[in-house]
Amino acid sequence: MNLAQFPRRRYTAYRTPIEKLENLTACLGGPNIYMKRDDLLGLAAGGNKTRKLEFLMADALAKGADTVITCGAVQSNHCRLTLAAAVKEGLKCQLVLEQRVPNSYNRYASGNNFLYDLLGVEAVYVVEGGSDVAGKMQEVADALAAQGRKPYIIPGGGSNEIGALGYVACAEETLGQLFDMGVNIDHIILTSGSAGTHAGFLTGIKGNNAHIPVTGISINRKSAPQTDLVYGLCGRLSAKLQLENPVQKEEVVVYDEYVGEGYSRPTQGMVDAVRLVARTEAILMDPVYTGKTMAGMIDLIKKGVFKKGENVLFLHTGGSPALFAYTDTFFEINK
Ligand SMILES: *Cc1c(COP(=O)(O)O)cnc(C)c1O
Repeated sequence: MNLAQFPRRRYTAYRTPIEKLENLTACLGGPNIYMKRDDLLGLAAGGNKTRKLEFLMADALAKGADTVITCGAVQSNHCRLTLAAAVKEGLKCQLVLEQRVPNSYNRYASGNNFLYDLLGVEAVYVVEGGSDVAGKMQEVADALAAQGRKPYIIPGGGSNEIGALGYVACAEETLGQLFDMGVNIDHIILTSGSAGTHAGFLTGIKGNNAHIPVTGISINRKSAPQTDLVYGLCGRLSAKLQLENPVQKEEVVVYDEYVGEGYSRPTQGMVDAVRLVARTEAILMDPVYTGKTMAGMIDLIKKGVFKKGENVLFLHTGGSPALFAYTDTFFEINK
């Protein structure tokens, strides 16, 4: 695929490492576990949104934007990284935060919320869960345009066909590294949220005629609507790439058993998984996304879906700053 046809900014000067997690592998007694360390991407504290923003910010700059507007939950990695990219590019950034858990916004909370302040966000608008977030972003953009400014709206999670190009690029990077390492992977496991990562990675794998199954772990929606979301984005993304969609709907695999009570709500499995990876590999997972995905992978290993002798690759999409907004959960559960 010719990704060089799309304008791109660069925020990471290297390919993120793929590590074999020897200790975690030994501890679980199942497949060999490898991890693609996208938590080590560039911009403040890294994570998957950095790859999407390379393409999204290039588009914003090409359109002459002076301000980016985006949205997310109160502890949004995507908002933190969009703001960080705006800082790098000399643009302003305004955020619309959705209280998906009622009354969850605290102006002085730690984690990503603290980083919005530290990185110098221009404005934060807080709206109730379930409200028209896209409408609110448009309202903010219209107000800025009326003042003669040039706003650019980035959708939640950066998950449109432009942002998802970042994960097509990641799939190609990963395939190249695995070839260099001489490792033949049997399964890829990743988090499926706003779907840009899942759709981009799967399109990149299939578009390169690599037939490695990709398993998505949902952190929010039920399997059916999440599958539709991912598959829909695969279609728009392949159109952008001028490809016939290389993804069949049945290749979009989503498990929804690890969401618990809902988006960003802690589960025992998440806490156990985050602790286990910290204590075996000294790698920080996050409470909202990768911790639940790791809980899912561990359970699927126990159920024999991923077997001893196989090689699995876990995509670590970042998020560790959110841990610092969840210290009570970790101190209280399983003291
Ligand atoms: C946003 C996010 C995800 C999910 O990626 P999507 O592209 O939104 O599906 C996974 N992990 C972390 C840490 C994230 O911030």
